Amino acid sequence: MNMIANHLPTAELQALDAAHHLHPFTAGDELKAKGARVITQARGITLTDSDGKEMMDGMAGLWCVNIGYGRDELAEAAAAQMKQLPYYNTFFQTTHVPAISLAKQLADLAPGTLNHTFFASSGSEANDTNIRLVRHYWAAQGKPEKQVIISRGNSYHGSSMGSASLGGMEPMHAQGGLPIAGIEHIGQPDWYGEGGDMDPDEFGLLRARELEHKIAELGEDKVAAFIAEPIQGAGGVIIPPASYWPEIQRICDAHEILLIADEVICGFGRTGNWFGIETLDIRPDMMTIAKGVTSGYVPLGGSMVTDAVAEVLNGAGDFNHGYTYSGHPVSCAVALENLRIIAEEGLVAHVRDTAAPHLAKKWGALADHPMVGEARSIGLMASLALSPDKTARAVFDVPAGTVGLRCREASFDLGLVMRHVGDRMVISPPLVISEAEIDTLVERAWQAIDRAYGWARSEGLIKGD
Ligand SMILES: *Cc1c(COP(=O)(O)O)cnc(C)c1O
Repeated sequence: MNMIANHLPTAELQALDAAHHLHPFTAGDELKAKGARVITQARGITLTDSDGKEMMDGMAGLWCVNIGYGRDELAEAAAAQMKQLPYYNTFFQTTHVPAISLAKQLADLAPGTLNHTFFASSGSEANDTNIRLVRHYWAAQGKPEKQVIISRGNSYHGSSMGSASLGGMEPMHAQGGLPIAGIEHIGQPDWYGEGGDMDPDEFGLLRARELEHKIAELGEDKVAAFIAEPIQGAGGVIIPPASYWPEIQRICDAHEILLIADEVICGFGRTGNWFGIETLDIRPDMMTIAKGVTSGYVPLGGSMVTDAVAEVLNGAGDFNHGYTYSGHPVSCAVALENLRIIAEEGLVAHVRDTAAPHLAKKWGALADHPMVGEARSIGLMASLALSPDKTARAVFDVPAGTVGLRCREASFDLGLVMRHVGDRMVISPPLVISEAEIDTLVERAWQAIDRAYGWARSEGLIKGD
């Protein structure tokens, strides 16, 4: 029926791809030399490439395919919506049924009074909205000086100029003159990597209090908001010490600043609750959503705000901001169907009661490997740190990511998509993963680590060898 199913031979696809397609986060000449992996189809948690090789998708795409691949209901919801009303905008006092229904559904699902959504098509767009929204909010209250947004090193909030500035990824800032003005960063709560001899909870408090120091340094009258992922995802699935979030909450409550929880990864079941803020007991004023809201089948993002924030915004005249596709009817229709499936199939409870405890046990046992310094998970997000000397939490004598990349390549060869962030290995599988599939995933992860270990030993990188 289509040219996609009956595709060209892999080598020809790769050559065309290298000739005409500029990839995100990819070095073009390396791609040319190696050829991209061409993914042609997927079902459940399994991807198939253009050579027919199957791989377990330990990353749910890019942390987004929460309900797994191949759910015809979403395709049917999209087709029905395209036939009825394929597009209309939500500017200038206009709306449509899918946007109304989704905004209401999100209000019902979100905790507290997060009852209002401004729609976008991605997490990046939603976080750009947040920058303008918090500044507009304070200006509307007669405090236009409150402009600065505080974020954290090694956080990820998207790739547009604004959202990448919020993010704390130095290689991203190095290209294009980032961060933009009015964004400040404090340290991340990464005890394993940066906590030294401190007790984790002591370190968690220290890092949280950097927020209070930064507010004092800048002046409370200059600070608009603090933004953070409940659990840093792209930074390496960094689970903060238990002391961290309560202290951040205390500081935000004590000072007049808005707390923005970036739920783009943690939202929609990933941590065993609908939202990460429930798992970590956070009460934000605003929340960024994307990814799992549609399970990645179509693009959709949004900024959710509390009744109190919405009241100020609603009294402040026009918000001179919006995207052609804010509240796109097809995206909203697909999101509604996706949320119906998550709810009716009990996927949040499946994560909380079955998959997450099983993963915690199995993944945690990877810490027995001689090259694994820590292996932790929360819900269905997990990470481990590769180390040449695990008791010392040491790093390798080669550039960060060298051994991690070896491990990732071995993992692909073994039929598991696992990602590396430096020398941390991370997974975030679809929420529908079964216990037996978790067993397979962890077995392959162990084998991949073992292959990287063999290589590291042969290179003399392991301490005490
Ligand atoms: C992926 C991600 C974003 C950006 O979302 P896009 O849809 O890629 O623009 C923002 N925040 C977090 C926490 C993310 O993981």
